[in-house]
Parts: sequence; C-alpha cells; structure tokens
Amino acid sequence: MTTEIKNVSKFFGSTHALKSITLSIKTGEFIAILGPSGCGKTTLLKLLAGFDTPSEGEIFIDHQLVSEKNQSTPPEKRNIGMVFQSFALWPHMNVKDHIRFPLLHHRFLQDDLKINIENRLKEVLNIVELQSFAERMPHELSGGQKQRVALARAIAPKPALLLMDEPLSSLDAELRMEMRREIQSLHKVTRASIVYVTHDQDEALALADRIVVMNNGQIQQVGTPREIYDKPNTEFVATFVGKANLIHGEWVDATTFKPSYKNIHSHWAKLDVSADLRKKDLCPIRPEQFSLSYTGEGIEGTIKNVQYQGKEIHYTVDIGPELITIHEDSQYDPFHVDDFVYINLKQTIKSDKPAVTFR
Ligand code: ATP
Repeated sequence: MTTEIKNVSKFFGSTHALKSITLSIKTGEFIAILGPSGCGKTTLLKLLAGFDTPSEGEIFIDHQLVSEKNQSTPPEKRNIGMVFQSFALWPHMNVKDHIRFPLLHHRFLQDDLKINIENRLKEVLNIVELQSFAERMPHELSGGQKQRVALARAIAPKPALLLMDEPLSSLDAELRMEMRREIQSLHKVTRASIVYVTHDQDEALALADRIVVMNNGQIQQVGTPREIYDKPNTEFVATFVGKANLIHGEWVDATTFKPSYKNIHSHWAKLDVSADLRKKDLCPIRPEQFSLSYTGEGIEGTIKNVQYQGKEIHYTVDIGPELITIHEDSQYDPFHVDDFVYINLKQTIKSDKPAVTFR
C-alpha cells in the first residue's frame, strides 16, 4: 500500500508546524522521520493516522484521499496500526486480550483472519515471543514485554501501514538494542510499510530503508541512511546526523577544498560534497575522518577537552574561530588538554570510496 503526502502544511494558531511536506512511501518501505524536538514529526504522524487534518495539502493512502476537509477518514477507517512511546496498554486487559481486541474490531481484517482469530493470536504471540505471558496483566510485565504487547496489538490485524512514535524511547539502552532487532525482524515478517518517528539518529540509520530528516516543520533531506550520512545536503543534516564539523574554506573545483585557516597550505581532494554546501564554501568532515598529530602541517589548534569512550577518544580542539570535534581510536592516546596539535584528514576515509588525498 502506497502513501502519498502532497504539499501538506499544518498551522496551530500562529505556529507553522508543517511547511509544505511532500513525501511518497512505497509498499513495504521502512521510513524513519528524524529530527529534533518540535520539528513536526508527531504532527505528521497524527495526520497520517487521522487524529488531525492538514491545514493545506492532501494525503492519499492506497490511492484514496483520506484528508478531505470536514470529512477526513477517521483512524479506525484507515488500514493502519499504531505503536506509541508510552505503550498505551489497557490496565484491565491481559496480553491475549490486547492482541485479540483489534482482531475482533479491525475493519480491514482479511477473511482468513476473521475465522481464524485464535490462530492469528498464537501466531502473533509467537512472533513477539510472548507465548508464556499470554495470561499476564500489563502490571506483571517488564518494559520490553509491554512494548512487545503494543507491537503485537498493532501488527495482529496485518495493517498495511504501521505508524510508530518513538516506540523505544522509554526503554533502557540495552533493551532498545534488543527491540531494534525485533522491529527489524517484525518488518521482514509483516512486510507492512512503516513510518517510524525518532529523534535518535542511530535508530534511524540502523532501521530505515529511507530517512526523512526534518527541521522546523520542513523536510531537509530524504535518502538512504548511507546517502544521508555520506552526502548530507544541508548544514543542518551534516551536523544533526553524525555531528560533522563544518570547515570553512574555498572549493578549488568540484572535489577539491582548500581550508581557510592560517598555516594550512594543503588542499583536500577527491571529496564528494553536496552543491548546497559547496555554494556556501563549507566542507563537512566527520569527527572520525580527522586525525591529530604533533608535527607536520594541517589546521593548527589546541586541545580543549578529552573524553575517553572505550573504543574511541573524543577530542575537542580549539582552532581559533571554532571548535572541532575529532574521534580517534583509543589505541592511540598521546594527546592531552592544552597540547598544540595539527589536524589533518585521514588519508583514506572508506575503502569503497575514493581516497582523500593531499595536494
Ligand atoms: P518531539 O520530538 O518533542 O515530540 P515533534 O517533532 O514531534 O517533537 P510536534 O509535536 O509535531 O514536534 O510539534 C511541532 C510544533 O507544533 C511544535 O512547535 C509544537 O509546539 C506545535 N504543536 C503541536 N501540537 C500542537 C497543538 N495541538 N497546539 C498547538 N501547537 C502544537
């Protein structure tokens, strides 16, 4: 089932929460909506679900216009499932009944599910591995188990579109990783289209087929996780996803950059950067793409902060006009606060990418 969002805007009084959003979601696609607090993620999800209507623009689900003014299709008449951050379980219902409920009430239930509700119940309990918890009440479950019940309830009627609003953010770090894997395998099994709202870039990069990066009610960039990380279109995307350093300088040609800091004479070549950033004379460099040295040449700076992170050490280096973040392998630990250092690009960033060279 395809979902089309066409020029959708949403106003709340003077707040322009969504600004002309256009996006099409393919059948079976996993879309992550990624952006900071207040950028409009939940508003967009609510419009897809039918809890609210757009001020302008149209939404089509399975080629049907669902967003018509005054007669928009209510949530229960859309073939969707929803999972919320808060789980939203019913305190008086056991696990089995949570899953049975949509099977008894969902309008889009396929005929085979209608006659085989108990089979589907068993199947779903199996998928989320809650077979032995079927009789438990919500207060007898852990956070992860509760979230699995919420997932099971959402997927039981086999909705064509699954909407998830920060479904893992109330779980601890370890459980989040486990549930991420479960959501991945759930997506494989159900083959539903998923729209997954998050402000956690790792989650979006790990799970999505395509990421929609939003800021301030607008879409900044849509792309595969690799496209978003490797070739951010805008300053916002470069810094929000992967915390790139934005280096000022001059583009000598389409792939060669000359940083404009004193005492650096080398050019950085074979770079692949969006036209927007080139136009602004900026070059985004990830913290892991830089390295530090005591001698040689490069951008001069002084180490301001050192944070040991186990696998890596994170350095903040003051280069005068700005602070640069650098992540070095923690095998090498020679740099300390107040050291004078040179910053250079690593010779090779990724083996399947052209090497970065100095000229
Ligand atoms: P978060 O990650 O914090 O949940 P978000 O990206 O989901 O944020 P939204 O909840 O979509 O952001 O809110 C977008 C903007 O619209 C915010 O400025 C918010 O204050 C405003 N907003 C949302 N709902 C309403 C409402 N019912 N009435 C007035 N303003 C609203």
